Amino acid sequence: MQVPALYLKRGEDTRLRAGHLWVFSNEVDVARSPLSAFEPGQVCAIVDSRDKPIGVGYVNPNSLICARLVNRGLEHALDKSLLVHKLNVALALRERIFDEPYYRLVFGESDGLPGLTIDRFGDVVVAQATTAGMERLKDAIGDAIAKVLKPRQLWWKNDASIRAMENLPEYAELGAGERSNEPMIVREAGLEFECDPLAGQKTGWFYDQRGNRDHLQHLVKGKRVLDVFSYLGGWGLRAAACGASEVVCVDASQPAVEAIGRNIARNGFADRVTAVRADAFDHLKALREQREHFDVVILDPPAFVKRKKDLAEGRVAYRRLNELGMQVLARDGILITCSCSYHMPRSVLLDGVQQAARHLDRQAQLLWHLQQGPDHPIHPAIAETEYLKGFVLRVLPA
Ligand code: SAH
Repeated sequence: MQVPALYLKRGEDTRLRAGHLWVFSNEVDVARSPLSAFEPGQVCAIVDSRDKPIGVGYVNPNSLICARLVNRGLEHALDKSLLVHKLNVALALRERIFDEPYYRLVFGESDGLPGLTIDRFGDVVVAQATTAGMERLKDAIGDAIAKVLKPRQLWWKNDASIRAMENLPEYAELGAGERSNEPMIVREAGLEFECDPLAGQKTGWFYDQRGNRDHLQHLVKGKRVLDVFSYLGGWGLRAAACGASEVVCVDASQPAVEAIGRNIARNGFADRVTAVRADAFDHLKALREQREHFDVVILDPPAFVKRKKDLAEGRVAYRRLNELGMQVLARDGILITCSCSYHMPRSVLLDGVQQAARHLDRQAQLLWHLQQGPDHPIHPAIAETEYLKGFVLRVLPA
């Protein structure tokens, strides 16, 4: 294969051989292969100090993670045919687990495609590249998606802020297919949600929480439910479908709240579900002042700890949020609390919940651990791929 070699220093192949896919810039033998000789995103062979190739990957000389391994061995070029193979491998897992074509098809490193996310919404596909390597492969990825999925539309939602780490601009565009006035729809557990591939959050829908929302079936029948940070009403509408008597969704985003309104109507829950546009902390305080109580409170906030150095501040925010959540919880209530911050450890979230419970003189019982669903597989060698954590707790008077 005619691609330039990126040579590692002695011993720096150990992590890759143990399963990891990243090369950091200080691990490269720059005397043999100067990083400045590579263009951002250029395909390379990753080779150890004894000239043994590890595999094919791509380089970004401007990034701390200066290369990512895409395929072990050098038999296959990094081209459409390899991408088709990897998409088919990813698809086989999803088709085994899910009855309908609504899922995350590719979860980056965990599916052997570092820097690439692909979500499937029936015949609409939303993809996101977060590295220069994947950005450069965009056309081949588009061709591979066309071959494997034959979608009606492919959207590129390349607006994640982490793209800045690779010096990539933020944009969103239709990659293939025709624009239409029909909204993009996600189907989950018999419900339909309207979402927006261009203006929505992330790639449009939080598939990572789908399996966690299944717990609602045991918890909400005939109960009052508060869904905080509701986005399009995923948790709230699922609660209504499981027989909740009343559901209130709260989100700060006006477009999200308007979409919840349409999703309520689409699923026939106008009698039981309402959506409020408000800041979560302010609204929880207002509900507390009004002495409102809910049997089930769901807290599914955006990541409060985006960088490691934000942990101290973030843990206080999670603790405060959980305390507010408990203050509007009925005497024998259920608290569902989550964090999608990779840098926030599960144990720290649970400590915060426990501290909040003691502060309010209440007792918490942990019923279920929550994690990202199987269409977001965890790569055992790459800790960063495990990010979503949460708990279903019963909160009692002390
Ligand atoms: N629970 C959702 C996902 C939530 S994503 C689901 O299961 O699909 C986080 C949401 O929090 C986004 O919709 C965002 O608009 C909202 N948000 C961010 N900051 C907020 C704040 N301070 N108050 C209320 N909502 C906020």
